[in-house]
This record gives sequence, C-alpha cells and structure tokens, in this order.
Amino acid sequence: MSDEKRICGKCENEITGKYITAMDKTWCDGHFTCAGEDCDSNLEGTPFYEREEKPFCKDCFAKKFANVCNGCKEPIVGKTVTAMKTTWHTDCFVCKECKKPLQGKPFFEKNGEPWCQEDFEKSRGFMCKSCGKCIGATEKVVTAMDAKFHQGCFNCANCKEDFGGKSFYVKNGEPWCEKCSN
Ligand SMILES: [Zn+2]
Ligand SMILES: [Zn+2]
Ligand SMILES: [Zn+2]
Ligand SMILES: [Zn+2]
Ligand SMILES: [Zn+2]
Ligand SMILES: [Zn+2]
Repeated sequence: MSDEKRICGKCENEITGKYITAMDKTWCDGHFTCAGEDCDSNLEGTPFYEREEKPFCKDCFAKKFANVCNGCKEPIVGKTVTAMKTTWHTDCFVCKECKKPLQGKPFFEKNGEPWCQEDFEKSRGFMCKSCGKCIGATEKVVTAMDAKFHQGCFNCANCKEDFGGKSFYVKNGEPWCEKCSN
C-alpha cells in the first residue's frame, strides 16, 4: 500500500474504503459505472467499452459511438467493413455458407446475407439446359421453355445458330430455329 491518495474516477473524492482498479484508475466501490446518460449500470466484472477515458456499458457505447455489426449485433470497435448498406466486423463479414471472409472479394446478397460468388451460384442453382454447366452470377441468363440457358448457349439445337431475338420452335424439348424446324 502506498501513501498516495486514491481519487475516484467518477466522484473525484478520495477513496478511503474499498476500491476498484480499472482503466488505470481507481474507483470507489460501486462507482465504476457506465458514463452513459441515465444508465449508471455497474461495470465491475463485466465487459465495458472505453471512450474519452470513460467507461461505457455495451448498449450505451453502441448507442453513442459505435456502429453495430450486422453479423453478431455487437458494437464495432476497430476495423469496420461497410457492405450491403450496413456495417460489420471484419471477422463477421463472411460467406453465409462457407464462412470464408468476403472483405475485398466479390460477394452477392441473398436474404440480407452475404454469399461468396461460388456458393451464391450454387445456391441459385441456375444450370444451363444446353451445356449443363452452372450459370455464373454475373452472366446473362435466358429463360425459355421452363429452363435456363447461358445467353450464348441458347441457340438452335440443330444448326447451332443464334436465334438473334427471332422466334424459335420447340421440338423434342429443344429449341429449333425456323429454318431447321421446317
Ligand atoms: Zn467515487
Ligand atoms: Zn450504460
Ligand atoms: Zn460482428
Ligand atoms: Zn461461400
Ligand atoms: Zn450453357
Ligand atoms: Zn437451326
């Protein structure tokens, strides 16, 4: 015990009895409380956030200073990712499906959640009826005959010619151009 006076970080009185040490300061027992207006919750032994040398409970800190992460709903202290018109912890902005970080990568939004390109394409399940391959999220899709096609794959099943916006005929479940269908 030193002879130094202990001053409470809140009431600024000299502490004579029990005290708490936090944020490099001392506090009367029961005075280490949230500095938020109308709050005063006791922060002893609970997680708190520091700003301007004052302690805040999570709610007050979030209300006053921080963006709230759309992923975990906790206030963001430190690096923030802004995406989908909201904010995220770097670690929380991950693909809904594979949980890989998406920061700085192309991503797609579905039901308010971010997806990596690969999982988004898989989840969308757009398979080209012609070539049988997945239609990428950035590729143009042609919908015809209750099926989906790559734009470049939607052509005559017989002569492979592009319909070029002209009408086509369905033969054996495949699109045929006018010439071939005659
Ligand atoms: Zn005090
Ligand atoms: Zn508070
Ligand atoms: Zn988060
Ligand atoms: Zn993914
Ligand atoms: Zn295709
Ligand atoms: Zn044809």
